[in-house]
Amino acid sequence: MSMTYNFSSGPAMMPSEVMKEANQEFLDFSGSGMSVMELNHRSILFNKIVDEAKADLKELLEIPDNYKVLFLQGGASLQFAAIPMNLMKNRKAGFIMTGHWAKRAYEEAQKYGEVNELASSADKNYTYIPNCSNLLISDDLDYIHICENNTIYGTRFMQLPNTLGKDIVSDMSSCILSEPIDVARYGLIFAGAQKNMGPAGVTIVIIREDLIRDDIMPCTPSVMKYKNQFDNNSRFNTPPCYGIYMCGKVFKWLKRIGGLSAMKEINKKKAELIYNYLDESKLFHGTVDREFRSRTNITFTTGKNELDMEFVEASKKVGFVGLKGHRFVGGLRASLYNAIPYENVEKLVKYMKGYEVEYMRRTLKK
Ligand SMILES: *Cc1c(COP(=O)(O)O)cnc(C)c1O
Repeated sequence: MSMTYNFSSGPAMMPSEVMKEANQEFLDFSGSGMSVMELNHRSILFNKIVDEAKADLKELLEIPDNYKVLFLQGGASLQFAAIPMNLMKNRKAGFIMTGHWAKRAYEEAQKYGEVNELASSADKNYTYIPNCSNLLISDDLDYIHICENNTIYGTRFMQLPNTLGKDIVSDMSSCILSEPIDVARYGLIFAGAQKNMGPAGVTIVIIREDLIRDDIMPCTPSVMKYKNQFDNNSRFNTPPCYGIYMCGKVFKWLKRIGGLSAMKEINKKKAELIYNYLDESKLFHGTVDREFRSRTNITFTTGKNELDMEFVEASKKVGFVGLKGHRFVGGLRASLYNAIPYENVEKLVKYMKGYEVEYMRRTLKK
């Protein structure tokens, strides 16, 4: 097998232990003579997979009993519609605009009700998180939507907005399970699996039970109605069975390595390693306000587009994958999700250092 260091923004690297286990069980799951892919979604074996995944996720995130976990499909993007359909009682929601994904959610919600932009960092191309301590919040807002970690821009909320008691809906697609959180501070948390949890195709929704309601927008497709999915233990229709199984394995892996506090320490170390280098480098520098730096998506640049692209091409040749920045911002990005070992980040930083030395030598000669 060739050696690859995958820093892609998503779908992302999976823990290698998990991949090996899945490989071993691929053709014969638990002595059934069948692959998980071939199991009926209402069979006893699959029930066990869902129930264990749910229980392990609850344990990892310390999810209170009045919050429910749903395994859905359609990605975070489908939730941009499902959330307003299910949660907009007054047909009014607030949004903190911190980048592309917040904007996409805002535009989608606009189809179902009134959307208020409560704060924005668009003025500086989303390189910071706006101050959310004193937002103008009208009394009839149903909820306030945030994108907790901005995958494309590389910023994250360091503290939750002061919402004056309004429910926070948080898009945690690129930061879920990267550290412990206080679930009780949210009304709803959602995340696509493909960054920090498992293969693409599973979307996790963690929702406070009083928000699972019957009196929702009548146009809501039945599969998108949280109540239908909750009443059927995420099996109103066929769920993404194999993906849920893989997520379950990732949850068990997280438990084995010591849970989210341990994960947070590793993630902090990984991010510090690369940020420390970026702060001293003469070639590369970080692109966002230090205060709001993401721990999962590290955005950086040489300041010159051609040079960034040269770096991407050169790094590819020695096994680094996914270092090109998002097409909206250009530059470079290394995504350090849970599954990426510290050693891989060390390898990347070492490579960048070497590249810098080489570059300086080249430019001095000219
Ligand atoms: C990747 C990502 C999305 C989009 O997820 P899909 O599963 O492709 O719909 C939404 N929000 C954030 C924060 C993301 O990182």
